[in-house]
Amino acid sequence: MATNIKKIAVLTSGGDSPGMNAAIRSVVRTCAFLDVECVAIYRGYDGMIEGDFVPMNARSVNNIINKGGTILKSARCEEFRTPEGRKLAYDQLIAEGIGGFVVIGGDGSFRGATTFNEEFDFPVIGIPGTIDNDIFGTRYTLGFDTALNTVVDAIDKIRDTASSHNRLFFIEVMGRDVGHIALNAGVAAGAEEILIPEENLGLERLLDSLKRSKKSGKSSSIVVVAEGDKIGKNVFELKEYVEEHLPIYDVRVSVLGHMQRGGAPTAFDRVLASRMGVKAVEALLEGKTNLMVGIMDSKIVLTPITEALRGHTKIDKELIRVSDIMTT
Ligand code: ADP
Repeated sequence: MATNIKKIAVLTSGGDSPGMNAAIRSVVRTCAFLDVECVAIYRGYDGMIEGDFVPMNARSVNNIINKGGTILKSARCEEFRTPEGRKLAYDQLIAEGIGGFVVIGGDGSFRGATTFNEEFDFPVIGIPGTIDNDIFGTRYTLGFDTALNTVVDAIDKIRDTASSHNRLFFIEVMGRDVGHIALNAGVAAGAEEILIPEENLGLERLLDSLKRSKKSGKSSSIVVVAEGDKIGKNVFELKEYVEEHLPIYDVRVSVLGHMQRGGAPTAFDRVLASRMGVKAVEALLEGKTNLMVGIMDSKIVLTPITEALRGHTKIDKELIRVSDIMTT
């Protein structure tokens, strides 16, 4: 079904991730290519409620494909959680003649978008922008690949100093609910152990593994810990525990924190963002709504946002097995 949408809005919302700018660029350029007006909404749903709109054309997004963060700024907006706030946003969109919007964000932003769609029958399409890779309906979210590379780079550097001093490092990476960053970065950087929210390794096994590692002659050890690891101890508690039970180890902690969210997007994220932006605009113009753009088996696909919100992409069991073998 074709629509008579003449103007499309794009916004970034919630936690930022590398690749958001490339996705904004793609939405804006696709609109220009298809001769549809495009409007940027600044500061997420806050800007939608306040009518913080700026017309965009193909030249407005020059030289941003390689930039981290989001030129549109992002925000967390409490007012949008209320029916009154959403009504104000709806009135602003209608006054501006906007016929649909593309929201680039995480599950919270999608929850807002789907509620808005259901309340006002307003066309919305989501692009998953979050480094955690925790959204169902897409194998990769925008920013995951960049964050992964950032983490691997950081661990490589830490390993240099760890091996110079025969140290054990606990490195905390992002991932409260899912361990995609920890598992993939751990395998890529050759970590001795990887602690993730999905699997409980157990403290005993951790100690055994570290003992084995020491015995086998390794000069340093890296343990990658996802924020929400299932053992339930944070990196500082783990350090204390290991120091108490394995005094042979000189233990250090490194929390990578927000550096994981920044930096120039990788080629993979730029290409993914470009593909997702095209699909998002085309979907709106075809009369599709309440859907999220994702990538599955290398193909760009659409999934109902309500389904995308139902769960997380499961951790790759085969990769866990590979990791177990590699840490021998
Ligand atoms: P992310 O999109 O990164 O998960 P948040 O969870 O902070 O980030 O969500 C971003 C914004 O989406 C929130 O600040 C709020 O404005 C909106 N939002 C989140 N959950 C809801 C909800 N249940 N209903 C309406 N709006 C929501």
